[in-house]
Amino acid sequence: MKDKACHECRTITTDSVCPNCRSALSDDFSGLVIVMDAQGSQIAKAMKVTENGRYALRVR
Ligand SMILES: [Zn+2]
Repeated sequence: MKDKACHECRTITTDSVCPNCRSALSDDFSGLVIVMDAQGSQIAKAMKVTENGRYALRVR
């Protein structure tokens, strides 16, 4: 399974649509951020991430 990233929320998934917001996915993304403490993490806050998981830095 190939990882894909959501255009809207940048969630990385192997599903065919984003499990988080149901938006379209792109297989052209760069960077990988793993959020393990979405409530307390500054990175999560900067990326407007509210759920733990894997996120792309940039999605094309
Ligand atoms: Zn999404």
